[in-house]
Amino acid sequence: MSSDGSDDHHHPRPWETVRRGLLLLISSPSGAGKTSLSRRLVADNPDLILSVSATTRDPRPGEEEGREYFFKSREAFEAMVAQDAFLEWADVHGNLYGTPRAPVVAALEAGQDVLFDIDWQGAAQIQARQPQDVVKVFILPPSMADLARRLHARAQDTEAVIQHRLERASDEIARWGDYDYVIVNKSFDRAYADLGHIYRAERMKPGRNPWLPGFVDDLLGE
Ligand code: 5GP
Repeated sequence: MSSDGSDDHHHPRPWETVRRGLLLLISSPSGAGKTSLSRRLVADNPDLILSVSATTRDPRPGEEEGREYFFKSREAFEAMVAQDAFLEWADVHGNLYGTPRAPVVAALEAGQDVLFDIDWQGAAQIQARQPQDVVKVFILPPSMADLARRLHARAQDTEAVIQHRLERASDEIARWGDYDYVIVNKSFDRAYADLGHIYRAERMKPGRNPWLPGFVDDLLGE
């Protein structure tokens, strides 16, 4: 089976290739494992691409331009805002983060799904614009102690930055009720399996498969 559920040995009829891409929005406090879960899901699903955001924050050790983020000065970011180049943008922890619009539009036109690792403000903005296409997943840490441990283990941020992220974590966590699905990330493998099930199930909603009426007509005409 290919990732869109069609049979590889069967030549697709034109209507079978039509898909309506979904927008998978994943939010969580920093350190709850959202980034690892997202990257693994994208690696395992060829029809799902990751939206790479722009940010004014400094790169962390190991981060690469264009892979984790497009790193921008505040001036360059504000120029993009003025050009309406973002699908959404928000101030998170005092830095600006935004989703470049063009790659998302291109992916949807190509029938691909797009995964967004964005905060609750960005998720709400995208949902307001495209409510039919959005699926929102919230990742919770099993405990605040675990969250603190993961932020320290990552060893990418200074102690002051970690403390700030922990203080902000409760504000982010307070938004859990606005999401369609909530995963408590106790074990990576379990959380990853659950995320995969959510994605697969959401793909099977009739509205996301405009080829179904043609398929059923064909089926009944056999
Ligand atoms: P970090 O600095 O840890 O990479 O990200 C901080 C927060 O910003 C995370 O909650 C992340 O999901 C969020 N974020 C990353 N990119 C975007 C974006 O394009 N838009 C919005 N609204 N939030 C983002």
